[in-house]
Amino acid sequence: MVTSPSSVHIAIFPFMSKGHTIPLLHLAQLLYHRCLTSTITLFTTPLNSPFIRQSLTGVKANVIELPFPENIPDLPPGIESTDRLPSMLLFLPFIHAVKQLQPLFEETLKSLPTINLLISDGFLGWSRDSSAKFNIPRMVFYGMGNFAMTISAIVATEKPHRHVSSDDEPFSVTPLPHLKFTKSDFSPPFDDPDPKGPLAEFVYEQMIATRQSHGIMVNSFYELDEPYLDYWNKNIGPKAWCVGPLCLMAKHNVELDQSLEEQRRACMQWLDVRSTSNRPVLYVAFGSQAHVPAVQLQEIAAALEKSEIDFLWVIRDEDAEFGEFEQKVQDRGMVVHKWVDQVEILRHESIKGFMSHCGWNSVMESVTAGVPILAWPLIAEQHLNAKFVVEEMKVGLGIRMRGRDELIKSEHVEEMVRELMAGEGGKEVAKNVKVLSDKAKMAMDGGSSWSSLEAMISEVSSINSFSS
Ligand code: UDP
Repeated sequence: MVTSPSSVHIAIFPFMSKGHTIPLLHLAQLLYHRCLTSTITLFTTPLNSPFIRQSLTGVKANVIELPFPENIPDLPPGIESTDRLPSMLLFLPFIHAVKQLQPLFEETLKSLPTINLLISDGFLGWSRDSSAKFNIPRMVFYGMGNFAMTISAIVATEKPHRHVSSDDEPFSVTPLPHLKFTKSDFSPPFDDPDPKGPLAEFVYEQMIATRQSHGIMVNSFYELDEPYLDYWNKNIGPKAWCVGPLCLMAKHNVELDQSLEEQRRACMQWLDVRSTSNRPVLYVAFGSQAHVPAVQLQEIAAALEKSEIDFLWVIRDEDAEFGEFEQKVQDRGMVVHKWVDQVEILRHESIKGFMSHCGWNSVMESVTAGVPILAWPLIAEQHLNAKFVVEEMKVGLGIRMRGRDELIKSEHVEEMVRELMAGEGGKEVAKNVKVLSDKAKMAMDGGSSWSSLEAMISEVSSINSFSS
């Protein structure tokens, strides 16, 4: 008997960081509203549960809370999400804690009605062993785009950087010779041709678990990623399916606590005033994870002050101090320190540029909103994303950087802000991003991503009926 897609029970297990969780919550929305699943079960931990439940308003989903492991060496208690870690040096102890969820996860699987598909984060490689024990196909979700995923995989196996003598000596990757990289484009362990130690072991473990899984779901669309997706599917695998941009499922009906709601209203009103007086606004934000050093924040503040451009700046660090900066720019700048609805901001008509760290969600959100990017990558695969934004998609300008930890001076930031918002380079990328934005919406609205998701569910359903 062929299981019809509408009777498919899908379990989703996001990794506990905002950048990994948010797109999977959008995916849950998509699966539910397109009736591609009969039941959604979402796994999380108690402190992540309120955010997940709020984000799933209007979706019939069963949220299961697995208690977060306690007494993990080096990990402060009460932290269940990487964006709350005091330092990313604690990433590995966090990963170690999360892995300990495996026995309880498997106990819970025993008690649930048959699950036809597990979609779990690429950092939860151990969930592939669990899914194999229960005969459930696993789809992997990394949250990164095909470009970064494919280039990282090629570099990890072919090691073209073995032959360079410095971090800024260019090299190319054989299958895609038109692209030039340097070691600085890669974060550990990918920057090292022979990486050793716990981070490299963790990454290789995840790569093996991914290879043993049924496929990969990618938050991107075919028209954007064609050469990289095709290369991946032909030469690397397992099969990757582009099902995004998932942020098109983002809704503003999320119930916020009072202070966040007040801040949201203030931001929107402030932006409305900008659009009635025809004043373009630069949105400045560096995601939920990366730490921007205080000295660098000062340089950004000085650049924004001198640029004479209107801006909305989200600073994660609640204690950041800028002296009289906020008073000096109060007629044209707004600084917020709490969580904002980034998608809603980017969709506002007054936003004409985004100074971004190029986390993949931010890139997808900016592209779909038709907002050009000033790329300022910080950690993880963000340098590759920035390269893709500037050199391949041509929807952004890049902050010039020589090394990973270089302090970028305010003069250069100011120059690039002016160029993005008012220069010829900015006009060009603004034109390009509008074209890409239309393609992204078409992909989700009956186009390539729409069909790809349906085809993937249909394929998984046939595995289930074959094995049962
Ligand atoms: N985000 C948000 N409000 C904030 C900070 C972040 O809505 O105040 C969202 C943002 O829209 C994106 C995610 O958090 O969906 C961050 O993911 P991204 O990949 O851009 O960067 P990361 O935080 O993982 O570095």
